[in-house]
Amino acid sequence: MNFKTKLDELELFGKVAKASAVLGIKAYVVGGYVRDLILNRPSKDIDFTCVGSGISLAQEVAKSFDQHVPLSVFKNFGTAMLKLDDWELEFVGARKESYRLESRKPIVEDGTLQEDLERRDFTINAMAISLNPEDYGDLIDPFDGLGDIKMKIIKTPLEPGITFSDDPLRMMRAVRFASQLNFDIDADTFFALSENAARLQIISAERIIEEVNKIVSVPKPSYGFKLLFASKLLHEFFPEMVELQGVDSVDDKSHKDNFYHTLQVLDNVCQMTDNLWLRWAAIMHDIAKPATKRFNSKVGWTFHGHEDRGARMTPNIFRRLKLPMDDRMKYVQKLVRLHLRPIALVKDEVTDSAMRRLLFDAGDDIEDLMMLCRADITSKNNKKVRLYLENFDKVEEKMKEVEEKDQVRNFQPPLSGEEIMETFGLSPSKIIGEIKEEIKEAILEGKIQNNPEAARKLMFDIARSKGIASKNHNTNQNTSN
Ligand code: ATP
Repeated sequence: MNFKTKLDELELFGKVAKASAVLGIKAYVVGGYVRDLILNRPSKDIDFTCVGSGISLAQEVAKSFDQHVPLSVFKNFGTAMLKLDDWELEFVGARKESYRLESRKPIVEDGTLQEDLERRDFTINAMAISLNPEDYGDLIDPFDGLGDIKMKIIKTPLEPGITFSDDPLRMMRAVRFASQLNFDIDADTFFALSENAARLQIISAERIIEEVNKIVSVPKPSYGFKLLFASKLLHEFFPEMVELQGVDSVDDKSHKDNFYHTLQVLDNVCQMTDNLWLRWAAIMHDIAKPATKRFNSKVGWTFHGHEDRGARMTPNIFRRLKLPMDDRMKYVQKLVRLHLRPIALVKDEVTDSAMRRLLFDAGDDIEDLMMLCRADITSKNNKKVRLYLENFDKVEEKMKEVEEKDQVRNFQPPLSGEEIMETFGLSPSKIIGEIKEEIKEAILEGKIQNNPEAARKLMFDIARSKGIASKNHNTNQNTSN
């Protein structure tokens, strides 16, 4: 197979070819770019390998552009990077690697192209395209990566047990590539995954989560999670999710398998949004079901309080997995905590105050919460699904009405603390907070309207009940000014 025509589409390949000829060394395009070229997946990262100094090659290539091209040199690694518009070109000398048992950091020596391709993780990533005059554009494919792309197979070039034991991160990469490309994992390779799963312990949480997030970002992540579960990789870093799996039965009463339910919810959410954190909310929404599971002979299995318990588990799980501990964690935590609330609003007799409370609690994340709730419907019975979705339509309609009327979704206190202090000549103190809280509660309960006039009137009533006199001793005032 020859890629000359493809290479001719980009001027920079010609420049790299010329630069390597000037230096008298052989140069190749390698790895992910070659794979993606064959798969027709657009990619802006190109890796070049040469049999010689990658840094010298990068410097020579940089010279050949009229414009200034930023060049970063990493002497310790023998690599150099050129940034050209939105392209990232990485240059490195061909290398061979050998490993010790206790580390994924290899001993690296200069090597041949063949040795360089051998050290790569999968056959589909172990192909090169020549940039040399004698075979310009030829595919060099010692492990039949092209065949594996056609067969849609993830397979290691060398013995998979050694490949994974050398660098266990490759196991996560195997599942990630299978998920992104929708490929199978070759049987021997998969067997080696399960044999070596415990080796994942030498990989940092940061590297693991990077791969997990790539899996979560694909259109249908359930596939990757099933592979992680079946290979027992998941058990190594996310035991809480593993715990979701399984069905208990007592007296012919069973509950659903919460692992597969969670995966279905995740896939459903992925059809609605690319938001990684809403996807994480789907992963986490039932995480406390195993911890809250009880059997009651009258009603069967219950998971009371799993939403609160799950919200409380969220920070610890995020911390351990090295997910961000900022507003993104709080967002996931909030959705986990609230995920049952809209269902409770389906009943006809639901009051406006229950609606206002949910709008207040969810704030700007109300649409995301509703997406999660819709995704949470995983019944196999289409009639039921339709009915539940219609119920949520009604809840949303009612929410809209209430929001238009009361505007509590992004609740801003109608009276500021300053105004309360000024009115009663108070200095900052607990009582100010208490008055504001009572006003907020009254609005959410529908006792007063959400506007400054109503709030001021209530403020005077509260003050009177607390024995606080206003600065001008007129606590009977209805509205100020
Ligand atoms: P993506 O850009 O989607 O992550 P990629 O294949 O380009 O895909 P990189 O992590 O950029 O992935 O790696 C570039 C190439 O380096 C890979 O195609 C593969 O040949 C090799 N490689 C990367 N990581 C490893 C590893 N842990 N073990 C062996 N080879 C690896």
